[in-house]
Amino acid sequence: MIPVTTSAGKTVAVFGLGGSGIATAKALIAGGATVAAWDDGANGRAAAEKAGIPLVDLSIADWSQFADLVLAPGVPLTHPEPHWVVLKAREAKIDIIGDIELFCRERNALAPDAPFIAITGTNGKSTTTALISHILRESGRDVQMGGNIGVPILALEPPAQGRYHVIEMSSFQIDLTPSVNPTVGVLLNITPDHLDRHGTMESYAALKLQLLENASLRVVGLQPARKYLRRPATESATLNFDAVTLISGAETANIHVQNGLLRCDENSKCIVDLTAVPTLRGSHNGENAAAAFAALSSFLDEATIARYMRTYPGLPHRMEEIGRVGDTLFINDSKATNADSTEKALLSFPQNVFWIVGGKPKDGGIESLRRYFPGIVKAYLIGSATDAFAQTLDGDVAIIPCVTLDVAVARAAADAAASGRETPVVLLSPACASYDQFANFEQRGDAFRTLVTGLPGFVPRGTEP
Ligand code: ADP
Repeated sequence: MIPVTTSAGKTVAVFGLGGSGIATAKALIAGGATVAAWDDGANGRAAAEKAGIPLVDLSIADWSQFADLVLAPGVPLTHPEPHWVVLKAREAKIDIIGDIELFCRERNALAPDAPFIAITGTNGKSTTTALISHILRESGRDVQMGGNIGVPILALEPPAQGRYHVIEMSSFQIDLTPSVNPTVGVLLNITPDHLDRHGTMESYAALKLQLLENASLRVVGLQPARKYLRRPATESATLNFDAVTLISGAETANIHVQNGLLRCDENSKCIVDLTAVPTLRGSHNGENAAAAFAALSSFLDEATIARYMRTYPGLPHRMEEIGRVGDTLFINDSKATNADSTEKALLSFPQNVFWIVGGKPKDGGIESLRRYFPGIVKAYLIGSATDAFAQTLDGDVAIIPCVTLDVAVARAAADAAASGRETPVVLLSPACASYDQFANFEQRGDAFRTLVTGLPGFVPRGTEP
């Protein structure tokens, strides 16, 4: 835990008592603050009570006593409209901040030079965060990974000289961290997402860029750089092309991937052959690998980064290679909850695909994936998207309506085995939310893994002869 000593002696309101809210309240108390915690939901309040955190109904509290409001990132700050607790804090003229702001204050006080690597972007945040952490850890560094991935930031170990904090940040978290000043700021990409919570694309992008303003090293994807960074010739802004390390998974940039080879523009020699790293398949992962390389280049030498990039174990549910039955490869891409994400999987597996798809459909369905249909041998439809997806696929791809995942896995495995094709791929990449049949995408992916590992003749990844 990181005791928040910078709030010692103050009274702090904490709203939103999920995992990060509870960790925040505990860290504030441990640092010597008085906490007034609240949540609209009974579950959050019960969890706080169980953890010995004092509850105060903030809707009727005296707000003149509070130094700050620490808000959970899921609580609307501006859109679709500010939550009532936000209005209360504004009325009381106190700062509305998040747990990562408390971390930044603590780092500034305890160890301002301790490495802090912050990663954002619409997609690829978790992969890049996990990859950077893996390489640092394997090379013997003291690494604390968390934020929007895994452990809430204030439940990690405190900032200290030589300790690396590798922190994934969503745009909501950036919005609540006005003094974010990472050693390295990574911005991967910006595509439309959560616009209901940000209003416009411009305000969403502005938040993402905020992460870079006070970073010592800025690593930026070519796509957001082209769209949102100013040219130095026209503006004297801090955020211009010369002030960043440009990365790309597909086009030439300072660090980029060409034909699967990670390259640096200075010497243009190959740093890592990513085609030999099964956990980093696809140009999207090329972007993540380029970002990790750029972020780490001031801490580790090239050979060390390359060596441990090759051993990246991958994250569950993101094109996770589970194993094989005979020649058939089984891939769990349950995290692909929309067509954009599934596109990455279909790009990585361009042929011989036995595709398990469906769930609770998103706007637009799978129409945007039409150009990949020729590589799909059969589609196994599950969940409430079945009728809509059957219509889109009709005439182009053979359709097997399966309703449930167990039926889909059994049929796809049998068809793939009987197909006689070279390396058939049974791919769960649903392009849909999971909520019609599962609690979340993790549960859906876990169910897939259990079904696959139970197939006769199954051989887990890494144990093939
Ligand atoms: P996040 O944490 O930002 O949600 P993840 O690393 O968990 O990102 O990846 C989620 C999904 O997003 C992946 O399964 C893949 O389909 C897609 N993805 C990953 N990296 C990228 C990238 N750099 N660009 C575009 N899409 C990506």
